[in-house]
Amino acid sequence: MKRPDQREMRTLPVLEERRRELETCVFCPKLCRSACPVSNAEPREALTPWGKMSLAYFVAHGDVGLEPSTTDTAWACTGCYACRERCDHRNEVGPTLLDARNAQRKKGHAPFGATRVLNTFDRHNRATEEAIRELNYHKSVRRDADTAVLVGCSYARAAIPEARDVVTAAAVLAGEEVCLSESCCGLPLLLAGDQDRFSAHAKQFRKSVEVKKRIVVHDAGCAMALRVHYPRAGVVLSQPVELLVEHAARAVTRLSHVPLKANETVRYHDPCQLGRGLGVYEAPRAVLGRILGEPPKEFDDNRQKGMCSGAGGLLPSTMPEVAKEITVQRLSDHVELGGGRIVTACASSLLAFRTRTELPIDDIATWIARSLEASRV
Ligand code: SF4
Ligand code: SF4
Repeated sequence: MKRPDQREMRTLPVLEERRRELETCVFCPKLCRSACPVSNAEPREALTPWGKMSLAYFVAHGDVGLEPSTTDTAWACTGCYACRERCDHRNEVGPTLLDARNAQRKKGHAPFGATRVLNTFDRHNRATEEAIRELNYHKSVRRDADTAVLVGCSYARAAIPEARDVVTAAAVLAGEEVCLSESCCGLPLLLAGDQDRFSAHAKQFRKSVEVKKRIVVHDAGCAMALRVHYPRAGVVLSQPVELLVEHAARAVTRLSHVPLKANETVRYHDPCQLGRGLGVYEAPRAVLGRILGEPPKEFDDNRQKGMCSGAGGLLPSTMPEVAKEITVQRLSDHVELGGGRIVTACASSLLAFRTRTELPIDDIATWIARSLEASRV
C-alpha cells in the first residue's frame, strides 16, 4: 500500500496493489538477472526481471509514456518463476506482470500477439469443445460420471494421442468411467491481459462442473489456472482439483514396469507451472522411476532451478523468435547431456519441443497410461 510520502501511480492506479513487488525490484541489485530465460535469449536490460518490473513501475507512475517500447515488456515473460527462486525477497514478478498486462491493455496498449489471442479466444474455445467431443467416444467416458477430466485445450487440439492417454489414465486410476470438461480453462485470457474476461470464463467453467464430485487435470498450466488463478480471480471451485501425476504417484504400486529399449534413456523436463508453480517435483520422478525401473535422467538445472521450455506465458504468440531460442537452448542442453527421450508433463512444452527436434518427446500421461494398461493384462 502507498505511504503518504509516495507518489501516485497516476497512469495505472490499479497497480497500487503491486507497489511492494514493483518497488522491491526497482531498488534491487538484480540478483535474479541470470535466471530469466527471456533476457538470456535476448540480452537486453529491459527484458531482465528488473527491467520489466521497472518499466511497469515507471509506466504506472506516468514517468514514461504508454508506448510499445515501455509496455510490451510486460508480455516478455513466460511466467516461469525462475527469478523468484533467485530472489532474496521471493518477489512475485510473473503475477505482477500479469497485472501490468491487464492494466496496460485496458489503456489500449497490448502487443499484437496478445490482442490476436483475445480476438480469437471464442473461436479457440469452440474448437476446443469440438476436439473434446471427439474424445467423448473414448470407451472410458460416460457423460454423467462423477469425475470430470480437464484434458487441456492444447492436448485436445494438438496432441490427441496424449489426450486419449490422459483419459485412459484418469479412468483407470479412478477405477470408473470419467466425463470430460469441454471448455478451455480460460488461461489464455489471463495471459493476454484480460482479467475480466478470464474471471467471467472461470465462473462459466465452475458452473459447467458444479455437479461433479472431483476434477482431474493433467496440464500444468490448466492446473495452475484452477488451483491458483481462479481463486485469485474470486472463483473458488467447490470440488477438489486433482493432478493426474499426483494421483499416479499415490497409486505408484499399481504401475507396472515398462522396459526401455536397449541403450534408450529418458530425461525428465520440469514444467515451470508444475514445478515452481505448484511445487510438484517428486511425484513425476516417483512415477517415472517406478515405470522405468530406474530414476529418469536429469538436466543439470532441474527441480527449482529447471530452465523454461519457452512455451509459457503466451511468449510464443508475443515474441515467437525469443520463445524458439529458449526452446532450442533447452534441447541443446539435453543433447549435450547425451540426448535420448524427453518426458514432460505440460502440453506447451511437449509441443514446443516436438516442433524443434526430431528426438522423441513424450508426455508422462502416455507412460502412466501404458503402465496401467500393462498392469491390467
Ligand atoms: S525479482 Fe528479486 S532479485 Fe530480481 S530484480 Fe526483483 S527484487 Fe531483485
Ligand atoms: S517469471 Fe521467468 S520469464 Fe518472467 S521475468 Fe521471471 S524469470 Fe523472466
